[in-house]
Amino acid sequence: MINQEIQIFNTRSRKKEKFTPLNSPFIGMYVCGPTVYDDVHLGNCRTFMSFDLIYRYLIYVGYKVRYVRNITDAGHLEGDRDEGGDKFAKKAKLEQLEPMEIVQKYTLGFHEVMRLFNTQPPSIEPTATGHISEQIEMTKQIIESGLGYVANGTVYFDVEKYSTTNYYGSLSNRKLEELLEGTRELGGQDEKKGRLDFALWIKAKPEHIMRWPSPWGWGFPGWHIECSAMSTKYLGTTFDIHGGGMDLIATHHTNEIAQSQACNHFEPVKYWMHTNMLTVNGVRMSKSAGNGFLPMELFTGKHKLLEKGYSPMAVRFFMMQTHYRSTLDFSNEALQASEKGFDRLMNAVKTLEKIKPSDKSTSDISSLHSKCFEAMNDDFNSPVLIANLFEGARIINSINDGKETISISDLDLLKKTFRGFIFDILGLQVEKSSASNDDLANNLMNLILEIRNEAKTKKDFSTSDKIRDGLAKTKIIIKDTKYGTTWEKEK
Ligand code: AMP
Ligand code: ZN
Repeated sequence: MINQEIQIFNTRSRKKEKFTPLNSPFIGMYVCGPTVYDDVHLGNCRTFMSFDLIYRYLIYVGYKVRYVRNITDAGHLEGDRDEGGDKFAKKAKLEQLEPMEIVQKYTLGFHEVMRLFNTQPPSIEPTATGHISEQIEMTKQIIESGLGYVANGTVYFDVEKYSTTNYYGSLSNRKLEELLEGTRELGGQDEKKGRLDFALWIKAKPEHIMRWPSPWGWGFPGWHIECSAMSTKYLGTTFDIHGGGMDLIATHHTNEIAQSQACNHFEPVKYWMHTNMLTVNGVRMSKSAGNGFLPMELFTGKHKLLEKGYSPMAVRFFMMQTHYRSTLDFSNEALQASEKGFDRLMNAVKTLEKIKPSDKSTSDISSLHSKCFEAMNDDFNSPVLIANLFEGARIINSINDGKETISISDLDLLKKTFRGFIFDILGLQVEKSSASNDDLANNLMNLILEIRNEAKTKKDFSTSDKIRDGLAKTKIIIKDTKYGTTWEKEK
């Protein structure tokens, strides 16, 4: 039973809409995955973490989600409109590797980064190279519809012809004339009929290694047909959610709609969702702009613009503190503030396990619980959710300080709220390394204090003092109380 009503901002209508899946409780969600010719940068990670939050929330409220996120391992040329070289071939030459070695190297790297950020793997992760025949079939269908044409072994989509009956730029709300102004004039050697035409299938040049046979000769698929073919294969001709970064609206997703319209005469997606960009000093983070921070540089602090390293969870928290449709600017100060906030929340999680219930509550915990759902129901508003969790942290600390009280049922509800929203939905984790260090430190300290107690009972004061003074030198203070000996690190 799904008892939450979610509002989603649909890029298609440019407004928030009530989310009604095509076939509830089942949901089909497709997200454009990485082009694996290089390391993913933090901007890419922001988009994938945002959809991870959305995926987790949909599951949490009871939906059965099939989440498809592809791996682009062929066909994505340097320019979105098929100008420029093949990204894989270029990188393979540079690194003196097979293109498929490039694909493998960066796919593994991507998975490792996603694991460190604690993102859930998608239900299906199809690759472009694994779906060549599906892409050829769809290209054939588009030619049959009259909207595809072959020119010298390459197949193009005829945007101007399509525009006579369809509004091509509707997703980005741009008229054909405006789009035409933004593209270069066709040159004499151009085989395209129109400036906005894009390739469905690209003829392989003699030196091109990644190539497949097709009815139009040896070649490789275009980037846009890849997502249309794979989303159709796994989610059907219409599905609920299609996502990606905002940079994909004007061309990639616009072309996906055109391809589906040509084949099926209806649109493929009910809710288009787009994440805003991660920026550095206001400039979009991208490989081509050369301002791409790598996750590993951030974790280790090895980057000229970083003052120190940040843990994956502090970075995840930093991302979650901004709504997915707002830009997020990357800076040392913002990261430091997030790290503090994350620690504060994690300390509250620990304190929550310690506090004891009384017979009544001084705060309204059920209202806090509902507010957390309301935030997420409002287009997955994670910053508002986090503000509510901080209010929860304040209540926890007041109870711990004896200034407030909580009933047994409210304590249960608060624990459920914290566990559900912090771990299951925001996908945060207690930092593994520090947790195991804490355990190790606890075990060692227990052993040391036991030896000291034994020495004291035997009146071996030189040993017991040696232990106390030695610990003091390493800034560990021990106190003998009537309940036993306690220890803490000097602050
Ligand atoms: P790519 O590997 O370039 O195909 O991009 C993979 C995903 O990351 C796409 O959904 C892009 O829209 C998204 N993306 C690229 N740059 C950024 C950025 N600076 N901020 C957020 N998302 C981005
Ligand atoms: Zn795509």
